[in-house]
Amino acid sequence: MLIFDSHLDLAWNAIDWNRDLWLTVKELREKEQATNVLEFKARGRNTVTFPELRRGKIATFIATLLPRLFRANSMPAIQRYAAMEGAYGAAMGQLGYYKALEGQGRLRFIKDWPTLELHVNEWVQADNPKGSKGEINLEPPLGFILSMEGADSILTPDQVQHWYDNGLRLVGPAHYGVSPYAHGTGTIGGLFPQGPALLKEMERVGMILDITHLSDQCFDEALDIYGGPVIASHHNCRALVPDQRQLTDDQIKRLIKRGAVIGSALDAWMLYPGWERGVTTPAASGVTIDTFVDHIDRVCQLAGNTQHAAIGTDLDGGFGTEQTPSDLDTIADLQRVPELLRKRGYKEVDIEGIMYANWVRFFKKAWTKK
Ligand SMILES: [Zn+2]
Repeated sequence: MLIFDSHLDLAWNAIDWNRDLWLTVKELREKEQATNVLEFKARGRNTVTFPELRRGKIATFIATLLPRLFRANSMPAIQRYAAMEGAYGAAMGQLGYYKALEGQGRLRFIKDWPTLELHVNEWVQADNPKGSKGEINLEPPLGFILSMEGADSILTPDQVQHWYDNGLRLVGPAHYGVSPYAHGTGTIGGLFPQGPALLKEMERVGMILDITHLSDQCFDEALDIYGGPVIASHHNCRALVPDQRQLTDDQIKRLIKRGAVIGSALDAWMLYPGWERGVTTPAASGVTIDTFVDHIDRVCQLAGNTQHAAIGTDLDGGFGTEQTPSDLDTIADLQRVPELLRKRGYKEVDIEGIMYANWVRFFKKAWTKK
């Protein structure tokens, strides 16, 4: 079955982690183990590369620009920039990575509904080839929609148009800690003075708001100010894993009312109450892919339908198999999700929605109503 993943930090992996994403997962792990670049636990434990995405039929994904400003007391990570101009330059560099792959015909840069429709149709056809023997399957490229995680590299709200013109279609104003526009994960507080102007400009140009990583207060303020389409790209349920990083049931209901789609994530830290990074292990926690399905199911129960639940893995988002479900080796293991949903009584049409079609419908609506 086709899969749409609404959160992958691919350029960040390629550039900041210096990973060749055209290797297989196995090759990349071996290379990192052999070259001893093991400064982070996630080294040598990656789960996402392009061959693996193709093998798992993760045909479409939201790919991020992720350049972060330095913040004291924030969790360790690879690159952090001292000034917004540095973050801007880094984001442009990450965009250059995606554009290089587009130029080689290896990725399709999806910026509008006709392209997404064509892309999905080609993959559906490749997945279920009509006719029989000898007919060559289409080999469409993998497709991505560009988002920005943390608006640290949007120098001023006026620059939103410039980013849109460069293909950016979604923005999450904050990441971990504070951003120049909003309070993010692990912080308490509202929008900063330029936050409302950023949101208004996003709405004007047709940029989608990703509320993932906003503080609780910013979540409320952003939804009050911004009138355009909203998503939560990689976000689990606080009722199951109590931490501010997750969405409360009330927040989920508010998103559902706005027509949002919520991508459930595979970071075990967001799947297990009290997970201690670097200490808790997948085996000891008992977290499996079915634990992740609990979050998909909760969104469906709160909605009373299956149209708002989806997948936003966040795999290789600063962690590897030391912090994923114990039965997940690579991202291609997402192909086991349909069976887990069937076991819970989900119908095929609903499973297709969760695996990819809910995102397709969301973008069709976001990109065609004017
Ligand atoms: Zn994130």
